[in-house]
Amino acid sequence: MDQMIKLSNVKNYIDGKFEINSQNLMDVISPLDGSVISNLPLSTAKDVDSAVKAAKKAFPEWSTMTFKERVQIFFRYRSLLEKNIEELTELVHLENGKTHSEARAEVEKSMELCEFAVSIPQIIVNEVQEVSKGVECRIERKPLGVVASISPFNFPNMVPHWTVPNALVLGNTMILKPSELVPLSTVRMAELLKEAGLPDGVFNIVNGGKDVVEAICDHPSIEAVSFVGSTKVAKIVYKRATSTLKRCVALGGAKNHLLVLPDANPEMTASNVVASMSGCAGQRCMAASVMVGVDKVQHIIDRMIDEAKKIVPGQNLGSVISAEAKTRIEGYIDEAERNGAKILLDGRNTTVKGKEGGYYVGPTIIDYVTTDMSVAREEIFGPVISIIRAKDLDEAIEIENGSNYGNAAAVFTQSGGLAKQVIERASAGMIGVNIGVPVPREPFSFGGWNESKFGVGDITGRSSIEFWTQNKKTTIKWNPEAKTNWMS
Ligand code: NAD
Repeated sequence: MDQMIKLSNVKNYIDGKFEINSQNLMDVISPLDGSVISNLPLSTAKDVDSAVKAAKKAFPEWSTMTFKERVQIFFRYRSLLEKNIEELTELVHLENGKTHSEARAEVEKSMELCEFAVSIPQIIVNEVQEVSKGVECRIERKPLGVVASISPFNFPNMVPHWTVPNALVLGNTMILKPSELVPLSTVRMAELLKEAGLPDGVFNIVNGGKDVVEAICDHPSIEAVSFVGSTKVAKIVYKRATSTLKRCVALGGAKNHLLVLPDANPEMTASNVVASMSGCAGQRCMAASVMVGVDKVQHIIDRMIDEAKKIVPGQNLGSVISAEAKTRIEGYIDEAERNGAKILLDGRNTTVKGKEGGYYVGPTIIDYVTTDMSVAREEIFGPVISIIRAKDLDEAIEIENGSNYGNAAAVFTQSGGLAKQVIERASAGMIGVNIGVPVPREPFSFGGWNESKFGVGDITGRSSIEFWTQNKKTTIKWNPEAKTNWMS
């Protein structure tokens, strides 16, 4: 493996120190070639409690600092991300398996997320009004206290940046639980935050799996939990965290539909659809998973095949996360074939020379999929697209509406009117028009509908400000020196 960085074993980060208590260790495997690159502790409720104690201790001072002081740290931190971008890119590449350019784009997105966080003071100027003569009401946003963030494997650097900068700038202190499959990027995150001047205890990391998540949900001193991961676990976390009366937003999985109309620009549509389904090896909650071809779109499908054939695993297509993921994805393709779908491009049994131990699936296009097949309904999370044919736009929208998920949907057309129909009628939180990955950019917020998100509000942008704060409403009556009626 061409490593430009030295990897050490992962420890928890509590009160500004890296420490390890658990003897129960798990290997970190690079999906690029299947090699063991590190290990991490599978922590327990005791570790979560230590982190909460540290975060609680840090809260009074951190939460009463001015916005200006807190934001200065994140200006410096953003510069450190930029300064260390090569190393951070390599870490994401090694632990997640995505290509260097995808990994770099992820770190760049983290920088953008910090840019939003440092602008929060400009956005949340508090409200004041004289509501009756001499009586003033004001609203201030106050932090919640100790909060937690739980993240998935597919964006080891970016997803933690969806929550950490905003929550901290707003005055909270935090426990982060990264995915146990990709714990390395957040080690550097902790080191760089410290270098930027973040006081000890404000940001803590507890590594591990289910036990840590459950301890976070149950801990009485954690006020809010944000979760990003699969729908199955999002439901568990949402129910468990809210049962202990915490605020919770839990983002789940996805099955995104791209509706392709016959008038769509063939070149642009084909390259967008293929990039959407294969980018990050299809392991994006915004990836295209179903293409609904409306009426005569064979010319676009032909171009899609040409586009997808340019993708070379191990070069411009990364690995999937694990051997289990590869087996699961290939199993879906097998099942679709058995049930009569046509495999136009087959990514099964892919290996990369020199990286035979890695987990690769080539781009796969499956045609003549019907709505009852599992490739039409379930999240595959690999570089696979299922094509369902629809006779008209109404039928295409009905197919999209039939999904339990609702993260994203997109339409490809040159007709504004038809696009508007999809915008209005698709049952998804994020809609694209001629865009295959319609991620809203800050200050707009990120979050889906239906089984793609549980809880009120979104996870980034302006909406996250609501999530990480509570309003303090103050009513003030001024004294007689202000020449107002003291008795009113
Ligand atoms: P996952 O649900 O398996 O894991 C997410 C987190 O939950 C991890 O930190 C993991 O340790 C923990 N976890 C796993 N099983 C648990 C259990 N039984 N109880 C408690 N905690 C548990 O998800 P993943 O495989 O890491 O990530 C891929 C999934 O995340 C996909 O479904 C993808 O769509 C989704 N995702 C969604 C978004 C979004 O914005 N909606 C963004 C990124 C990823």
